[in-house]
Amino acid sequence: MVDIRLIPCLSDNYAVLVHTGDETILIDAPEAGPIKAALAEEGWTLTTILVTHHHTDHVQAIDAVKGSAKVIGPKAEADRIKELDETLDDGAEFTLGGLEVKAIATPGHTSGPLSYYFPGAGIAFTADTLFAMGCGRLFEGDPATMWNSFKTLRAALPDDTKIYCGHEYTLTNARYGHQALPEDAAIAERLKVVEAARERGEPTVPTTMAAEKATNPFMRADDPSVAAQLGMAGADPVEVFAHLRKGRDSF
Ligand SMILES: [Zn+2]
Repeated sequence: MVDIRLIPCLSDNYAVLVHTGDETILIDAPEAGPIKAALAEEGWTLTTILVTHHHTDHVQAIDAVKGSAKVIGPKAEADRIKELDETLDDGAEFTLGGLEVKAIATPGHTSGPLSYYFPGAGIAFTADTLFAMGCGRLFEGDPATMWNSFKTLRAALPDDTKIYCGHEYTLTNARYGHQALPEDAAIAERLKVVEAARERGEPTVPTTMAAEKATNPFMRADDPSVAAQLGMAGADPVEVFAHLRKGRDSF
């Protein structure tokens, strides 16, 4: 039995707790208060913190919440995450509390982030790489690098995988997707669902790989109908991806 708790932090960040048996794993530490409150409410004690990437809004509360937990994160960004006790390379496989975990390098937003996939639990944490209906900003990578990371995730995560991302950006992403691809019925429909959820104050995370394959314009950069709607029929998927990312930058 795996219990999962999504914790809104700061203005639009998410931290997540994964609890099984005596193990409680935190994915990213944006803000101490809400994380500590959730742990106290559940009566859980942190045993591991998995860090996705070096950005301040994902690491700044590590010291405040860690207690005796082990802090694990990407070797490729270890020089920029001083709190790490242990580092991981792309493809690392390990178990936490009996749960299998795979580390997947997904560069583009930063140079060396890791996404974490728990195949037995059917959950994945893609932080600021793959968002619900969107993709992270390209601070330390180019469109080709990020597109490659999207393809890596698409190949690695089965359709029913529940995907937790690092921010609640879905409404803006959905509005952008609908503006970029106004004739796409699946995107238009999901925009309505997302609008309704946000009006009720509900999170739109987790998403699923199936939903992203259907309605995330970035995940569909190699879909001929997307290229055609953008007036880019026959273009390389990297060009389509770059075009979509450029549009989202100024949306
Ligand atoms: Zn970030």
